[in-house]
Amino acid sequence: MIKYILIYYETNFKANLTSICGSDIHAANGSSGRHYAPVAVGHEIVGKVVKVGCKASSKLKLGDRVGVGARYFYCKNCDACKRGLKNNCLKCIGTIFDVDKGSGVSTQGGDAFHNRNDGDLAFQIPKSLETNEAAPLLCGGITGFAPLLDNNVTKVTKIGIVGVGGIGHMAIQFAKALGAEVTTISRTRSKEEDAKKLGATRFVASGDPESMKEHKGTLDNILNTSSSLSQSAIEPLVVLLRPSGTIVVISTPFKLNFAAEHNIKPWVATFDINEKDLCEARVHVESSKVRYRAVMTAFDKFFAGSRQ
Ligand SMILES: [Zn+2]
Ligand SMILES: [Zn+2]
Repeated sequence: MIKYILIYYETNFKANLTSICGSDIHAANGSSGRHYAPVAVGHEIVGKVVKVGCKASSKLKLGDRVGVGARYFYCKNCDACKRGLKNNCLKCIGTIFDVDKGSGVSTQGGDAFHNRNDGDLAFQIPKSLETNEAAPLLCGGITGFAPLLDNNVTKVTKIGIVGVGGIGHMAIQFAKALGAEVTTISRTRSKEEDAKKLGATRFVASGDPESMKEHKGTLDNILNTSSSLSQSAIEPLVVLLRPSGTIVVISTPFKLNFAAEHNIKPWVATFDINEKDLCEARVHVESSKVRYRAVMTAFDKFFAGSRQ
């Protein structure tokens, strides 16, 4: 029997859907070092508020459509929190595979029907964002967007985005919305057409020496969103930089209003939340078959009869 200790800042919400991020896969199959099972993964969650803690953010009301990303709790007192960097809180607790220090209960993610989170870490979803499309922005989207802001990407920036995948396909749209000239870098040309549809104007096939030569010394920043972090994957990209250019590597993880205003739309494939479809969705994500984010939906169907 799980006993929750109520933390006043918490907000309960009923999940409507969750999308699958790469770290869910790592947690479930143990590739990040150990198996976290039993765990309900999912940390790109959208739902409706069903209960608000008495000290929770006053902005949230019952029935609000909110999204939650990778953080369940932040301390509000450490150096990072005081500087407004709540994602980097030294005492933060993750939405999944972490432990609530107060109750000792393992945190569980969006594959469950209900969720509980710090009210300040539940974000109202702008009206113009579809629920399906809002979920992938909550971890993958912000992971691709934050380094663009940190590196002052603007309309005068020539940026290269490595990888057209779960994060990369959103980073291309964010960079384009900031006005940058976007070059997509991918091993082969198989995703060139998609990259152009997403807003890239140039394409480098990094496996083709001619293509690399053609784009030598043309980029101010390179944002690597691919899953490969090896020196052999990163080093060849340096020749694409202009003098004083930078490479930013993100291969692990709010600006929802920006996404709504600029019509940033993650490409999603939807699956029902049940054992069979969840397994199938994860296989699609692991094999990069999904274009480009899998979203688990139909929670009401699967959890029919569960306590509301
Ligand atoms: Zn994630
Ligand atoms: Zn803190």
